[in-house]
Amino acid sequence: MGEVNIYRLDVGSCNGCDIEVFSALATRFGLEKLGVKLVDDPSEANVLIITGVPTIKMHEVLKEVRGKLKSPKLAISVGACALSGEAFEGSYSVDGMVDDIIHVDAYVPGCPPSPQAIVEALANVLELGPRASEAPSGFRGMPQLDAEKCTACGACAQVCPTGAIELADEDSERVVKFKYEKCISCAFCEEVCPEEAISISAERPSLTKNRKAIGISGRMGLQRCSVCGKPFAPTSQLQRAADRIVEDVKEFQAYRDLIAQAMGLCQNCRMLPENIRKAKILLFKLDRAV
Ligand code: SF4
Ligand code: SF4
Ligand code: SF4
Repeated sequence: MGEVNIYRLDVGSCNGCDIEVFSALATRFGLEKLGVKLVDDPSEANVLIITGVPTIKMHEVLKEVRGKLKSPKLAISVGACALSGEAFEGSYSVDGMVDDIIHVDAYVPGCPPSPQAIVEALANVLELGPRASEAPSGFRGMPQLDAEKCTACGACAQVCPTGAIELADEDSERVVKFKYEKCISCAFCEEVCPEEAISISAERPSLTKNRKAIGISGRMGLQRCSVCGKPFAPTSQLQRAADRIVEDVKEFQAYRDLIAQAMGLCQNCRMLPENIRKAKILLFKLDRAV
């Protein structure tokens, strides 16, 4: 693309991403040898790097700065704030993301993204050829999900500070979805998962053209109520709960099947008089067993 002049615009960042952008342009990554340089006047630039969640006051500035760029006017959103608003989405001072205000050509997720990810993204967008982009040692990237272990309990979604994890029921499955555009690699989900189904790896999506499409998901089958047939809870979650009960109190092992049967009823069918009676009998037996 010839001369690459970058103008960086902070539209509401904590400066974490800005530091990484400057690091990406440091000598060690060799971008300046390829003619990439930072400029302080948008009318001299042909590439715009945006960091931070766009506050309402910055909307016009953002449009104005992009308007001043020279061709090909490439815009790259860097960091979870610029991609999705992260924890600031819905704040009184925020109304829309960067790509609601100007056209964005590429997105670099992360909070903040590593300089290596920014270098890789720039090299890709500017067609500079592949650049060495090993994640630094100990780098915390995006969460990975082991769907075999996950019981779709939802504990991870409850602690995720940015709402990056969503659970939704689709037909007879519960889908657990990790949206990388919002993830800040805090590892709270890894810490809280009772099944050790999440691991924070050095994996990091460095560049995407569709921010909403990046992420991972797992599907867990839902148990059908043994009375009405309605899917009501993840099968693996019910099995794990029954296993835990008999693991914790060995006297209950003889009642494992009865416990599992009682758990196989949806909330409504549990309240039917005959099922309340069965539950009371089971509780009586369990009480006698210890
Ligand atoms: S993505 Fe993280 S590091 Fe970047 S501006 Fe937002 S809070 Fe700061
Ligand atoms: S990943 Fe872990 S915490 Fe999240 S839903 Fe699955 S089992 Fe629960
Ligand atoms: S690491 Fe887990 S808890 Fe933290 S933001 Fe990402 S998905 Fe949410």
